[in-house]
Amino acid sequence: MDERVRLLNDQPTRPTGRYVLYWCRWNRRVESNHALRYAAETANRLDLPLVAYERLSCAYPTASDRFHTFVLEGVPHFESQLRKLGIPYIFQLPRRKTTRDPLRDAVLRDAAIVITDDCLRATPSLDVRLEAVDASCIVPMNAIPQRSYAAYSIRPKIHRLLPKYLTPVPAIQLRRRSRETFADLHTHVTAKNIASLVAECDIDHGIPPSTTFRGGRAAAQACLDRFLADRLRRYARDKNEPSLHATSDLSPYLHYGHIGALEVALAVRDHAAAHKLISAEFLEELIVRRELAHNFAHYSPKLDSLSVLPGWALKTIEAHRLDTRDPRNTPAQFDAAETYDDLWNATQKELRLRGKIHGYYRMYWGKKIIEWSASAEDALSTMLWLHDKYALDGDDPNTYTNILWCFGLHDRPWPERPIYGTIRSMGRAGMERKTDVDSYIREIQYLERTGKELTP
Ligand SMILES: Cc1cc2nc3c(=O)[nH]c(=O)nc-3n(C[C@H](O)[C@H](O)[C@H](O)COP(=O)(O)OP(=O)(O)OC[C@H]3O[C@@H](n4cnc5c(N)ncnc54)[C@H](O)[C@@H]3O)c2cc1C
Repeated sequence: MDERVRLLNDQPTRPTGRYVLYWCRWNRRVESNHALRYAAETANRLDLPLVAYERLSCAYPTASDRFHTFVLEGVPHFESQLRKLGIPYIFQLPRRKTTRDPLRDAVLRDAAIVITDDCLRATPSLDVRLEAVDASCIVPMNAIPQRSYAAYSIRPKIHRLLPKYLTPVPAIQLRRRSRETFADLHTHVTAKNIASLVAECDIDHGIPPSTTFRGGRAAAQACLDRFLADRLRRYARDKNEPSLHATSDLSPYLHYGHIGALEVALAVRDHAAAHKLISAEFLEELIVRRELAHNFAHYSPKLDSLSVLPGWALKTIEAHRLDTRDPRNTPAQFDAAETYDDLWNATQKELRLRGKIHGYYRMYWGKKIIEWSASAEDALSTMLWLHDKYALDGDDPNTYTNILWCFGLHDRPWPERPIYGTIRSMGRAGMERKTDVDSYIREIQYLERTGKELTP
């Protein structure tokens, strides 16, 4: 079997199945999608049509207008691209938090085999063969067969394998094209009905859509184009200066699969070669750091627990358990951006408004939650909760890995400090020295006041 493919159950292929089903749970795109391509090859091999399926549940605790809107904004374009290839698309939007789902069962009942994305989502229990394809990573997770403990140890492995995997995904061609509409099973989504569909769902209507990020392929592509045209050449110099906006802002689109890391890497590499730019710093983040996070999520027994930290970090957390925390904030104070530090409050407001925080200040955001929480365990649960609630790139391998990085994962011991022990600390004075804190705070105040970006 292909290195990207994992068998998820021991059920047989259904001989009476009418189609191969691509159950899209992560990679919501036609372009550069190894899972869709593998599903198409399977359909051709079985001489069946291919049907794409997606179901946006509202049953998870932090389902809200923000996440529903972002997903729905991607649906019309995905549907039209699939239909051009002869692939019917069934999109289902349960309005209630239900676990029994006859509409879902009706789709699965006619599938000969189900192909899905290899992702953090729980494996569904099906009575038909289920295979998962890793379409999120450039180097497939299975090609690095054990957990790596730092960037320096995974970097040479990735670079050795890149020539093999940093190549475009071939275009999809189906032998059996279908025009079936599945009208009884499908929720029709258009740009015009998104708000009303979201309003019908039993989700948290108190978390509005992002002030800044619209979902979908066109928005993802525009973000990449802007990065290539304006930001890539400044990236290495300015990526740690939030007010200069030199990073790609692609993480929400990578998380929802509206764009793939492989196609971004190829576009950046080619653009850099054509314009004599240096792309190494960006590709280090997009490939090495991101795939280190996927490696952690793939092999770690737990993602949301301090127990997976290295021994030195666990020891120092224990040794500083009784250190005085002053100030000490509650999760609700963090959520409301009500600490004494106006820079930290601005980062939290950025999360609440945009749905992500600039990478450099995101480290500060996490480190200060450790410093001002009653315990390391409380700090971890606050960070995860706030990501689940607001982050458009949350619940991702990057989320868990980077939050745990704040506690020492993939890092090394630093000189001893109160509360942190030997875990790396960050302070306001360092932020003042290295970044333009005032510009950033002004920018977030403007966003909060107007709901609009100062610089689009
Ligand atoms: C406490 C904390 C929480 C974080 N939570 C998330 C999260 O929920 N989701 C998320 O995608 N990233 C998270 N990050 C990592 C990083 O901050 C974001 O990936 C980055 O800021 C996204 O912005 P961008 O797309 O403009 O990044 P760019 O600098 O343009 O980078 C391009 C891409 O490379 C990847 N990347 C960049 N930095 C990292 C990194 N440190 N580790 C792994 N991959 C990286 C991302 O996919 C990113 O979109 C977190 C970092 C910290 C310190």
